[in-house]
Amino acid sequence: MKRKLIVLPELPTVDAFRRYLIKENLIGNRIISVDVSWPRSIMLPQKDLFFAMVKGSYIISIHRRGKWLFIELDKGTLGIHLRMTGSLFVIGSSDQPVPYARTNFDLEGDRKLVLSDPRKFAKLWFGTETTEILSSLGPEPLNDSLEPNEGFRFDEFSKHFVNRNILVKTLLLDQRVVAGIGNIYADEILLHCGLSPFVKTTELKEARIISIYEGIVNVLGEAIKELDILLGKGVLPTGNQESKKHFKLPRFKGAQCQICGSKVSWIKLNGRGTYYCGSCQK
Ligand SMILES: [Zn+2]
Repeated sequence: MKRKLIVLPELPTVDAFRRYLIKENLIGNRIISVDVSWPRSIMLPQKDLFFAMVKGSYIISIHRRGKWLFIELDKGTLGIHLRMTGSLFVIGSSDQPVPYARTNFDLEGDRKLVLSDPRKFAKLWFGTETTEILSSLGPEPLNDSLEPNEGFRFDEFSKHFVNRNILVKTLLLDQRVVAGIGNIYADEILLHCGLSPFVKTTELKEARIISIYEGIVNVLGEAIKELDILLGKGVLPTGNQESKKHFKLPRFKGAQCQICGSKVSWIKLNGRGTYYCGSCQK
C-alpha cells in the first residue's frame, strides 16, 4: 500500500505523539540501544557522544514545547523534531516493520520506538539544558486544560501587531510570537476568525486581534481533542485522511470550505502554499 508522505507535524500533531508515547508506557522503560540510519539527523552532540548518552538511559518523562518533543532521560534530554514528514511508532518484534525507519530506539521488553521519516528532515538532539534550542521560542499557547497558557498573554501578543507590518499569517508562523503553529493551522486559524490571508497586521483593530488570539486557542485546542479521539481508536496522525478530517479547509484542489461549502482557493504567499475561503474570509 502506498503511504502518504505528508504529515507536517504542528503543535496538535506533536502533542498527539507525546500522548501516544505516554499511553504506550514508555515512561520507566530503558533504551537498550540506538540505531540511526541517517546520521545527519543528529543536531547535537557529535554522533558517538549522542549514542553513548542515550544508550542505557531510562525514560523519566515525555513532554512537548512548540513542535519539539522532549524525552527526559536520566542522563539528559532527548529532543525530537519531526519537521515535515516525521512520525513515531512503538512496535513489538512481531509487528510489521515501519517504512522509512530512520532511527530505532530498542527498548526493554522487546519493543522499539521508531522514527519514520520519508524526507529525512527530522532532527534529533541530546543535551542537559534545553534552553539553548528553545531560546528563540515564544509562549506556549495552551496549558494542559487546553485553556490559554499563562505565558501566552493578549497584551504581549497584540504588541506584535503594532510593531510589525507584515501579513497576519506570517506573524502566526513566527515561532517567537507563539510556539507551535505551522502552515496548516495558520490557515485554519485565519478561517476560524474570518480573516483574509492578504490582511496585514497594522490594518487590524483590537477586536480582530482578540479574535485571532482566541482563534489560536480554540483551533489548536479543538485539533488536540480531535486527534485524541482518534488516538483512542488507535489512529496516529501520520498523514492519513482520518487525521485531517477536522480541517475546515481541506488541502486539495477543488475542495469545499467546511463552513460555507464554497470552493477553497489556493495561493502562494511568502513562499507558503495558502488555502483560504474567499466567502468566509474578508
Ligand atoms: Zn467558507
